[in-house]
Amino acid sequence: MMQGIIGKRVTMSDLNKKAFDPINVTRSSMPSFEEYCEEIRELWQTRWLTNSGVKHRQLQSELESFLGVSHVELFTNGHMALELLIQAMGLTGEVITTPFTFASTTTAIVRNGLTPVFCDIDPNTYTIDASRIESLITERTSAIIPVHVYGNICDVERIDRIAKKHGLAVIYDAAHTFGEAYKGRGVGSFGDASMFSFHATKVFNTIEGGCVCFSDDRLCEILPALRNFGIKAKDEAEYCGANAKMNEFCAAMGLCNLRHVDEEIEKRKAVVEYYNERLGGIKGIRLNPVQPDVKSNYAYYPVVFDEKVFGAGRDAVLEALAEHGIMARKYFYPLTSAFPAFNGKYDTSLTPVALDVSSRVLTLPLYADMTRSDVDRICAVITGINGEVTA
Ligand SMILES: *Cc1c(COP(=O)(O)O)cnc(C)c1O
Repeated sequence: MMQGIIGKRVTMSDLNKKAFDPINVTRSSMPSFEEYCEEIRELWQTRWLTNSGVKHRQLQSELESFLGVSHVELFTNGHMALELLIQAMGLTGEVITTPFTFASTTTAIVRNGLTPVFCDIDPNTYTIDASRIESLITERTSAIIPVHVYGNICDVERIDRIAKKHGLAVIYDAAHTFGEAYKGRGVGSFGDASMFSFHATKVFNTIEGGCVCFSDDRLCEILPALRNFGIKAKDEAEYCGANAKMNEFCAAMGLCNLRHVDEEIEKRKAVVEYYNERLGGIKGIRLNPVQPDVKSNYAYYPVVFDEKVFGAGRDAVLEALAEHGIMARKYFYPLTSAFPAFNGKYDTSLTPVALDVSSRVLTLPLYADMTRSDVDRICAVITGINGEVTA
């Protein structure tokens, strides 16, 4: 008998019976049906469903305290939050960023008419290699948009020094780092601003949603206008905005999920630690240790394979897992700079570390309610001893 991570006893026959049940790469966190119904009940009285309603305002203020930041503005998703933040900050010319990210970071830059300049990543944290930033600065550079990756935090101190020295703005894509802290400080409080995503697949979700955190009071006026067609007070548009408001049903989901997020992160931590126990010490696979001084949210479980040493490459492992109904993900692959959308405009050989990692990384299934037997099944396939479950 084995102990499930959530405490349920798992027998060998359970394991065999469940051997072919699919395991998805993630599973959304949700409150109980009753808790959500209670949260949305008053919307049937107010009939106020969007446009900064009561749930929206409550979630905004609860997030300001939870994230330890001066200001939060909510959006319909993380991508529009980032795209409109870039517009609000009036960036021009070139922006230094990384190609080892989700489509959103790069497209938000390009859709603002800016030129992304791709910096390579650090081979240990997969975040921007801060030692390479200065060599990419030109007189056209207006900002740095680094990405916190898998829960790993960028070298925020060094980035801050470079930005100050050259008068550049810093916006973090913090989509992967909800609830994290560095040296006791909320990760959203670094740089000029940060974007968090509340997509269904993230550690904290509002179904779809996202926010921007910042300390400059001037953004308090323009950001809400930009998400509402650029309209400030009257019916005329002051800015060329978009429609990117968070509705009340999403905000209500956020209020419920926020009550449980610490517990969700604790459960993820237990899953990650059990994975580490099972996969630690195997030659040819690199795990992702929590960084010093970081309070992690355990958002993803990336594994980087060294084919020569491990004996199988990333793609072979992905296939073997799929044959057992286990959905891992090549995340991030390919690099955003290699996307067909950009017609070969960017030279991926200029970011060799990012190119290499993207060809070798796999993120394994991870969600709060995963059991030890789920992890056992996955690790058994990876280590090639499927069926022979070790305690
Ligand atoms: C999820 C994600 C986004 C986009 O967030 P959405 O809320 O899905 O729009 C942006 N950047 C990164 C790194 C992400 O993982």
